[in-house]
Amino acid sequence: MKALAPIQFISNGLLDLTLPRHCAVSGRPLIAGEDGAVAPEVLREIELAGGDYCSRCGAPQGRGVGVIRDCLSCRDYREGFGTRGVIAAGRYEGTLKEVCLALKFGGERRLAEPLAAWLAQLAFDRGVADKIELVVPMPLHPYRRLSRGYNQAELIAKPLAQALAKPLFDVLRRVEKTQRQATLSAAQRKGNVDGAFEVRAGRTSDIEGKLVLLVDDVMTTGATLGAAARTLKKAGAKGVYGAVAARAALGADS
Ligand SMILES: [Zn+2]
Repeated sequence: MKALAPIQFISNGLLDLTLPRHCAVSGRPLIAGEDGAVAPEVLREIELAGGDYCSRCGAPQGRGVGVIRDCLSCRDYREGFGTRGVIAAGRYEGTLKEVCLALKFGGERRLAEPLAAWLAQLAFDRGVADKIELVVPMPLHPYRRLSRGYNQAELIAKPLAQALAKPLFDVLRRVEKTQRQATLSAAQRKGNVDGAFEVRAGRTSDIEGKLVLLVDDVMTTGATLGAAARTLKKAGAKGVYGAVAARAALGADS
């Protein structure tokens, strides 16, 4: 193996010394041994969805409610989301919301790692990990992906697929420019995303007869997730589970 040139050793060392890393949420300088993107005390602030949640839409429920399958957040969607169930790491509020925003708009790609780790844990805890056969990220419209430089759903889906030891297939694409969902009502949101997705040419064999885990960063009404799930099933997928980092209430800016 070729030895590294001395100048490379020197510059690597200098970089470590002169560029202290900071917590992507609080901005606190990270010290030796703090290897993640976020300071440990910030991660501890996030209340992850515990035992009480809605298995239909993933919304965390108040303590003592138990596992339900029809919560206030998903009652507008009587026909369901086109999914067998949704897991969400937590509510889209407080520190978890800051993490999602920093990942989506702040260029903090490393934040996908803890989100993926939480989702993997939930997928194992709730028996979803054993059922699904592949992982699919929610696609961004190409122009939005270009301007952002990355797809945050894909950043979460990659380490999640790795943790679940399942293949990651980027099989979906957006076919038309949809209006930003955050500006619309629940009914408008659903109409806005009907027909918004298609399976990429030549990729249906990747999903035919398979159970898919569809990954997104934030779920609000579930209209986008539902439209993508129905597209996968129409193309032959046996069924779809959703995994979202955070479950937002309608009206939240996502
Ligand atoms: Zn629900």
